Amino acid sequence: MQQINRLSILPFGMINSYVIRGAKKHVLVDAGLPDSEKQILQQLQLLGLSLKDIGLLVITHGHIDHFGSANALSKALDVPILVHENDAPALSTGKSLVATLKPTQAYWNLLKWKLSADTATPVVPDLILRADEVFSLKEFGIAGSVIHTPGHTPGSLSIVLDNGEAIIMDLASSGIFLGGILCRSRMKHPPFHHDKSLVKHSIHQLLAKNTETFYLGHGYPVNRKLLLHYAETMLG
Ligand SMILES: [Zn+2]
Ligand SMILES: [Zn+2]
Repeated sequence: MQQINRLSILPFGMINSYVIRGAKKHVLVDAGLPDSEKQILQQLQLLGLSLKDIGLLVITHGHIDHFGSANALSKALDVPILVHENDAPALSTGKSLVATLKPTQAYWNLLKWKLSADTATPVVPDLILRADEVFSLKEFGIAGSVIHTPGHTPGSLSIVLDNGEAIIMDLASSGIFLGGILCRSRMKHPPFHHDKSLVKHSIHQLLAKNTETFYLGHGYPVNRKLLLHYAETMLG
């Protein structure tokens, strides 16, 4: 049974957050751009979820299109924020980790300048994963865990569920434009990767875990075959 629902920050999958439904609580994954909180809260309610049933906000990495509304959401929902130690400084400063914004194509330089300049309201994360520590989601009634999958940034996190679903955010992306309006199944690079060979390693680590469906930060979900193709042909 599908446990992951997409929350779109921009239409057509241009920027995604997700919610994982648990038997006890639900887990929100990523917080979109600054000022996305109303949109996210509204979409949670449209899914029929009660806001008081959200138990945790996971921030997958320190890029502002993923942590921009973390402060507002953690306050509105009264939930702790989980992040990896390597990307935690982005939240406490409100700035993307600029050193990780290495464009995968020259035309993304413009986006790099924009993301480098943008600022979110800082927030101090409550839960910090260190090194390759694993965070179980069992307490929320979710069979799955949050794991360290570095490469896109040094502290990138993924969520792997026992049912075969995984949220891997910016380890890969799909479609033609940033979010994949057309040609949903075409794999492509996200605008930035800090270390492509580490991304490849992390993808293989994820593929080794009986995963079937991969939810992305930009674009629509992809299957194992597509993700493997991406790792083998586009990451060197
Ligand atoms: Zn990113
Ligand atoms: Zn992104």
